[in-house]
Amino acid sequence: MEQNLFESVKQNICTCATGPQLTPNLESLLKSPMKEIHVSLPVRMDDGTIRTFQGFRVQYNNARGPAKGGIRYHTDETIETIRGLAAIMTLKCALHELPLGGAKGGVVCNPKAMSKGELERLSRAYIQALDCSIGPDRDIPAPDVYTNEQTMGWMIDEYIRQTGCVHFGAITGKPLSLGGSEGRHDSTARGGWYCIREAAKETGIGMEMKETSYSPESKAETGEAAPSVAIQGFGNVGYNAALIGKEFAGCRIVAVSDSSGGIYSDEGLDVAGVMKHKKETGSVRYFPGTEDITNSQLFELDVDVLIPAALENAITEKNADEVRAKILAEFANGPTSPAAEEIMNKRGIHIIPDLLCNGGGVIVSYFEMVQNMNMDHWAEDYIYRRLDEKMTRAYHKVLEFSKKNSITMRKAAYTIALEEVVDAMKARGWV
Ligand code: GLU
Repeated sequence: MEQNLFESVKQNICTCATGPQLTPNLESLLKSPMKEIHVSLPVRMDDGTIRTFQGFRVQYNNARGPAKGGIRYHTDETIETIRGLAAIMTLKCALHELPLGGAKGGVVCNPKAMSKGELERLSRAYIQALDCSIGPDRDIPAPDVYTNEQTMGWMIDEYIRQTGCVHFGAITGKPLSLGGSEGRHDSTARGGWYCIREAAKETGIGMEMKETSYSPESKAETGEAAPSVAIQGFGNVGYNAALIGKEFAGCRIVAVSDSSGGIYSDEGLDVAGVMKHKKETGSVRYFPGTEDITNSQLFELDVDVLIPAALENAITEKNADEVRAKILAEFANGPTSPAAEEIMNKRGIHIIPDLLCNGGGVIVSYFEMVQNMNMDHWAEDYIYRRLDEKMTRAYHKVLEFSKKNSITMRKAAYTIALEEVVDAMKARGWV
């Protein structure tokens, strides 16, 4: 059986904090979240019946600032996964030098089978049940798997009704009309591409990223084969990863997939066309002019860049041997199990770990909080520039540390982040 995400994250944390640093007190602080809330949410369904949903919010650590992290709606949600994701958020914020701790929330539900009204009532019930545990200086939720701007709109409204304070900084990833930030909707994918651009230099793949889109003519002029990319997952992150990779990095997106399967085209996919097809048919499959592939075949493609952009444990010891990509860019959280990573490291695959690679989402969430607190609104190009600076700096910080200490990129990222968290805990007198 696959190790649960929290166990994998703890394993990574402990191997980074070995030796005198990992005192018994520090170990027990890191072993379990600082605060965990379990809620039962009775929601009236459209047919008049009442259904009770289970929800969680885990605040793993707030030594460096108020806890921060998304909320997921998923049928298979578990408390162990949410704990692991909350720990990853803590390290992600520390690695990217954001003055924030880490949290994550989840509700066990099937959002695909729920109406808009049912989802609104569920989202409001979740915020009501969390009571006063969230807020701009306590814990700030954001979108994640199967939640979006609209979910955040309902949630901020419920927060405002509950507290009487119109403080938009209590939730990020909101609609622009409610203090949302320019550039937040595709920030995870854009931030990930800034990392891939740097990793391409490191691994000798010819790639540049433009501020404005590539035109088809400019690609044809160079005459070079564009780098090939395969993306697992076609939700907000996967779709924007494909769009930015094609439009701004001039890559060939040769394969994409969703939970029902995938499609392949050696020439590169018409990404916007695939999205239109998915909206019409419910899946990316059978998009005209493409070959049908399975999700496992997608991982085995001989591509320059492989982007898992769906759920955790996508690459395990079962399929790690088959991965042939040069760069593995973890746009999802926890897509690689520790055993799979060991196999891929031996094979020389350049792995950009999740806490580094997908930090763009929470970085722009932080920009959103700063704008809300100052009642300000920043221009899109300013946000992209600051996001690029932060992602590029973090990538090189991790790369140099990994080279200097002959350790993997993930271990380097965990070690740097953990040191920041432990320093703050020491300064607060916790360890
Ligand atoms: N859900 C995103 C993540 O996992 C963003 C979290 C946030 O903006 O707080 O990083």
